[in-house]
Amino acid sequence: MNLDLKNKILKKITIAIDGHSSTGKSTLAKELAKKLGYIYVDSGAMYRCVALYAMQNNFFKPELQEQLLVSHLNHIDITFKNNAASKSNHTYLNGVDVEDKIRKMDVSNLVSGVAKISEVRAHLVRIQKNMGLNKGVVMDGRDIGTVVFPDAELKIFMTASAEVRAQRRFDELSKKGQNVTFEGVLENLQKRDNDDSNRSDSPLVVAENAKVLDNSTIDRETQFKLALQWAKDAIENKN
Ligand code: C5P
Repeated sequence: MNLDLKNKILKKITIAIDGHSSTGKSTLAKELAKKLGYIYVDSGAMYRCVALYAMQNNFFKPELQEQLLVSHLNHIDITFKNNAASKSNHTYLNGVDVEDKIRKMDVSNLVSGVAKISEVRAHLVRIQKNMGLNKGVVMDGRDIGTVVFPDAELKIFMTASAEVRAQRRFDELSKKGQNVTFEGVLENLQKRDNDDSNRSDSPLVVAENAKVLDNSTIDRETQFKLALQWAKDAIENKN
């Protein structure tokens, strides 16, 4: 291996982005990954796939059958593939493109209940750790800097006021033609934040050494420039 290539690999870092719901984590993560030539992984999509699988198999009747779901974990295959038409990554559940389905409110309303099950977390965390073995990855979620990649060279924690987040999400879902109300979206993200922050396994907390990014009043471009500078500094400081 030539020295330049070796240096490039050695200089690759891991970027962990955590934070509250609908703070634009995936937008920032995707932009950083594109700029740096890194892999982007949306860990939330993986929890959403497990929730969708449970819904499709009637595991929520009358309430979530946790052990039944746990016994099916090895039948849940989650992959990401680039979609030529939308020029973005789509999420596949057992070979079927579920990118739109997993973003709908019915999944959003059930996903936190699935994400608090320790066996589900352990299963997905194992897969996520494997995805980051060679570094050069940007992953976003709720426990990336604390559990999945505690040694990440750059950890970012994103937040913003609940109203600002709900408005952005409401605009996004309405644009996609989904029949949602601002109040419904606000209620969902407040409930998810509460569930995610208070669960016993891997609660959402600010990881040690994380840089907190409150984007209530800063625009996307300013935020990207700031995060890119943090990434460049972390790459520079990597020994
Ligand atoms: O990121 P997104 O909002 O799509 O995540 C959906 C849900 O998945 C979160 O509300 C949370 O309950 C769960 N999640 C998690 N840990 C992660 C990523 C997502 O518990 N690393």
